[in-house]
Amino acid sequence: MNHFDVIVIGAGPAGLLAAGRAAETGNSVLVLEKMSREGRKLLITGKGRCNITNNAEMSDFISVVYPNGRFLRTAFSQFYSKDIIDLLHNHGVETTLERGGRYFPVSNKAKEVLDGLLHWVSKLKVEIRLNHKVEKLLVQDDVIQGLIANGQKFTTNHVILATGGMSYPATGSNGEGFELARKLGHTIEKPRPALVPLETAGDVAQKLQGLNLKNVRAVVWVNGKKEAEDFGEMIFTHFGLSGPIILTLSRTVVDALRKNNTVEITIDLKPALDEQKLDKRLIRDLNEHGKKQVINILRYWLPSKLVPVFIELLKLDPEKSCHQISSKERKQVRFLLKNMRFKITKSRSFKEAIITAGGISTREISPRTMESKLIKGLYFAGEMIDLDAKTGGYNLQIAYSTGWLAGNSCKKD
Ligand SMILES: Cc1cc2nc3c(=O)[nH]c(=O)nc-3n(C[C@H](O)[C@H](O)[C@H](O)COP(=O)(O)OP(=O)(O)OC[C@H]3O[C@@H](n4cnc5c(N)ncnc54)[C@H](O)[C@@H]3O)c2cc1C
Repeated sequence: MNHFDVIVIGAGPAGLLAAGRAAETGNSVLVLEKMSREGRKLLITGKGRCNITNNAEMSDFISVVYPNGRFLRTAFSQFYSKDIIDLLHNHGVETTLERGGRYFPVSNKAKEVLDGLLHWVSKLKVEIRLNHKVEKLLVQDDVIQGLIANGQKFTTNHVILATGGMSYPATGSNGEGFELARKLGHTIEKPRPALVPLETAGDVAQKLQGLNLKNVRAVVWVNGKKEAEDFGEMIFTHFGLSGPIILTLSRTVVDALRKNNTVEITIDLKPALDEQKLDKRLIRDLNEHGKKQVINILRYWLPSKLVPVFIELLKLDPEKSCHQISSKERKQVRFLLKNMRFKITKSRSFKEAIITAGGISTREISPRTMESKLIKGLYFAGEMIDLDAKTGGYNLQIAYSTGWLAGNSCKKD
C-alpha cells in the first residue's frame, strides 16, 4: 500500500521530528530518505559530539537567527530547547550543559542522539524507507496529491519537505528539495554557504597554518567600514582563516563579497589592552630588555609562529637590540598587534559550510503551521527554509522546532 496520511521527505533531524509528531497525533506516517541510512549530517555535528541545542532565552535565540528570526516565534513557543532535551531523555539520551548554554549528550556521541530520535519514531510506528529519492511532487489545483520516489507513486494529502540545504552535500542534502519546491512556484532565496571558512589574499595566513589563537578580536571591514566583530578563537589554515569567530563572521563576509565589495578582516591580538596600555607595556619591556635582540622580545608578545611573520611584515632587523628600536618602529609593532589585516578573496564552498543561508522564502510559508501559502498540504521544515543562525546548537533547534510544528499541523483527515 502506498497511501499514507503524512509523507516526510528526508530523515534528518527536521524530518524525524516532523514524522514523530505527525504520528503522535494519530497519522500513518512514511519517511522517504534517499541515503542508505538516516541522519548522516546529524552524525557529524559538533565534531561527532552533537551540540544538540542551546538554552538561550527565546528572544536572545531569535536575535541570532537570520534573516527573520521572528518567523520562528510560534514554532519555538510550541517546541523549544527544553522539549528536545526532555524527548531525548525519554529515549535514553542523557545531556550535559556546557559553556555558552550549549547542550551535548553525556556520551559525547552524536550517534546516541540519532538513535534516541529513531527509537522515538519507531515506537510511534513511523515507517522509514531508505534509498528512496523523491523525484517529483504531485499537485492538482494547488493541492498536494502525492509524490514519485524511485519511479514509484505514493499518495497522501500531506507532504513535509525536510531535505536540508546544500552544505556538506555528501551527507545527502544537495539542494534537490529546492528544485522540488521551485517547480511548484516557490521562491528560493539564493542559497549561500554560511558558517564557512574564508580565503585570504597573499601568503601570510598560509605561513601561519595550524596556529590557533584564543581570546582575539576579529573585525570585518567592508569597503573600509566596520561591519561586524567577534571575540574568541580562530585558526589559520592553508587557504586563509577558520575557527569559531571566523565562521560566525562569515555570514557578513559572504553577503558583502556577493555585492563585489572589498572585504578585510583585522585581528586584534591584544584585545584586553587599549593602544595606550599596550604602548606602556611595549615601552616597559623594551627598556627592561634593552640588550636583547628584537626577535627575542617579540617572543614575549607573540606565539612563536607569528614572530618571523611580524619581522617580515614590519621589515625589522631581527638582530637589532631592543634599545635601538625607534618610537616609529614601536608604534608599527603596536599597530600590527592590534590590526593584523587580511584581504578576503572568497569563502570556501558548500562542501565546507556548516549551514546554508537562503532557501525557501519565509514569505511563502505560514509561520503558524509551516504550510506552504501556495500549495495546500505541502509543509517545510529545517535548513531548507531561509533561516540560519550562528554556531552553538541553534541550527539544530530550528530543525526540531520547525519539524515538530509541521508534523503537528498535519491534521488527520
Ligand atoms: C560539519 C557540521 C557540523 C554541524 N554541527 C552542528 C551542531 O553541533 N549543532 C547544530 O545546531 N547544528 C550543527 N550543524 C548544522 C545541522 O547539522 C543542520 O542544521 C541540520 O542537520 C539540518 O537538519 P535538516 O533535517 O533540515 O537537514 P539534513 O540534516 O541535511 O537532512 C536532510 C535529509 O534529506 C535527505 N534528502 C535530500 N533530498 C532528498 C530527496 N530528494 N529524497 C529523499 N531524501 C532527500 C538527505 O539525504 C538528508 O538525510 C552542523 C552541520 C555540519 C555540516
